[in-house]
Amino acid sequence: MNNFIYDFLNDFDEKSIVTYFDEPMRRHTSFKIGGNADAYCVVQNSAALIKLLKICRKREIPYYIIGKGSNLLVSDNGIRGTVIRLGGEFKSISLVDDCLIRCGAGASLASLCSFALDHSLGGLEFAWGIPGSVGGAAFMNAGAYGGEIKDVAVSAMYIDENGNRKRYEGSGLDFGYRRSAFSGKNQIITDVFFKLEHKAQRSIREEMDELMRRRKSKQPLDYPSAGSTFKRPEGYYAAALIEECGLKGESVGGAQVSEKHAGFIINKGGATCSDVKDLIENVKEQVYNQKGVRLQCEVKFIGT
Ligand SMILES: Cc1cc2nc3c(=O)[nH]c(=O)nc-3n(C[C@H](O)[C@H](O)[C@H](O)COP(=O)(O)OP(=O)(O)OC[C@H]3O[C@@H](n4cnc5c(N)ncnc54)[C@H](O)[C@@H]3O)c2cc1C
Repeated sequence: MNNFIYDFLNDFDEKSIVTYFDEPMRRHTSFKIGGNADAYCVVQNSAALIKLLKICRKREIPYYIIGKGSNLLVSDNGIRGTVIRLGGEFKSISLVDDCLIRCGAGASLASLCSFALDHSLGGLEFAWGIPGSVGGAAFMNAGAYGGEIKDVAVSAMYIDENGNRKRYEGSGLDFGYRRSAFSGKNQIITDVFFKLEHKAQRSIREEMDELMRRRKSKQPLDYPSAGSTFKRPEGYYAAALIEECGLKGESVGGAQVSEKHAGFIINKGGATCSDVKDLIENVKEQVYNQKGVRLQCEVKFIGT
């Protein structure tokens, strides 16, 4: 790759943007899969982010925002352009008033849940154990065990394609099943506001512990994955359909339908993106042929 296209990145000091060139994306995805990104930028503050977006736009350099990479399948050929990850000030979490938390999109859901627990605020217990960032969770409307981000997020600030700061409030967030107002757009979420409720710390902790216990007993957490590979089809459970088709343990190269939870494709060792994609296609085809149900991917594919 031609680093000179990205020379401008060297003009940012490390307090603004930390840049890695030709960065293997397998280091930044929970699947541990993915070729190199031309540039991987950890942006530390809003001013730097706005400047970076404006330069990318002017030079027609594609950019892609990622969180903790826990819902991504990155191409073996990597990503042409700049990957943006939010660090620094985007990880801050604070109490705005009694029950309202402002959380930087770069913070992990785990730190947000711990912050809520520390302040005896309930409502986020469901999110304990989802290994994403707050930005990724808001983008995806992540959910588990009967709870979703949409139940607790009341507004979100973002930066649009032109580098303008904007905000969605209430129903403007347009949350749906694993989607939000941000789906299909090039907007970067910077902060999310969560309205929670006072709750006894002990009962929050007990619920978090219980949900984590259920997660560990059901999910193949010993192997790299991106969580549930498929969305829940209306009226069915993807994992049950896959299991009923006899596909548990089915594999292509290093990718395997987990024997512990058929809804997860895992990286048993050395899996490539194309192994996972081929396995996804096999599973889709067999589930359609045997059950007449078309599975759709929840995992997002990125790259060239
Ligand atoms: C073991 C395991 C268990 C999981 N369990 C669950 C579960 O119970 N429930 C569930 O819903 N998911 C689950 N997931 C999937 C994943 O953790 C969630 O989808 C999570 O919300 C993704 O967050 P992320 O920060 O990793 O986002 P990424 O995977 O990095 O990105 C996902 C999408 O969000 C976008 N995005 C990320 N940050 C921003 C931002 N700041 N602004 C705009 N767009 C952004 C990206 O462009 C991408 O389109 C699981 C994954 C694993 C590996």
